[in-house]
Amino acid sequence: MSPYTPATIECNGETFKPYLSENQLQERVKELGAQLTRDYEDKRPIFIGVLNGAYIFLSDLMRHVQMPCEVDFLKLSSYGDEKVSSGQVTSLKEIDADIKGRHVVLVEDIVDTGLSMKYLLEQLRTKEPASLATVSLLHKKDATHYDVQLDYVGFKIPTLFVLGYGLDYAQEGRNLAQIYILDE
Ligand code: 5GP
Repeated sequence: MSPYTPATIECNGETFKPYLSENQLQERVKELGAQLTRDYEDKRPIFIGVLNGAYIFLSDLMRHVQMPCEVDFLKLSSYGDEKVSSGQVTSLKEIDADIKGRHVVLVEDIVDTGLSMKYLLEQLRTKEPASLATVSLLHKKDATHYDVQLDYVGFKIPTLFVLGYGLDYAQEGRNLAQIYILDE
């Protein structure tokens, strides 16, 4: 079966064009997995995926992490159906794992303003992990105005809305095999 990679996507009345191919994504995810394997060998880390957007990235990443580890999830309120952040973050689901004294790696799909990441780091630090690192597949570097610690980044991207590979627009587009960007 061939991957779902149409030439353009119409979503919520707007047009998106291909930006990062399936091959580019898979190659980079493989590199990140190898890097994490080297850095966390013998540490039995817990990877915490941020739902919903990070679910595909996390599942691909985990297949390149070659050491014992655990996986857990949390969920934040989303953008709703908008392309810009509401400027407010609330927690919809907390982690189940006890992370006190554990090595934690937070896995995000994208960092935009940095507000979500800042909120998550503050929340997780109160649970006293032995260490806390962050991975984000995408980073809108020029849009990030909160001071957040990003340890592993897949791709730096421009300040434009993207979808695909887990990321949605009004809940659509998560199943696209590559990442599309708004065609301005
Ligand atoms: P921040 O809190 O950094 O402003 O935004 C982070 C969250 O906003 C991400 O986890 C993601 O859910 C959403 N987000 C930010 N930019 C985009 C984008 O370009 N496309 C999609 N689909 N979601 C985005």
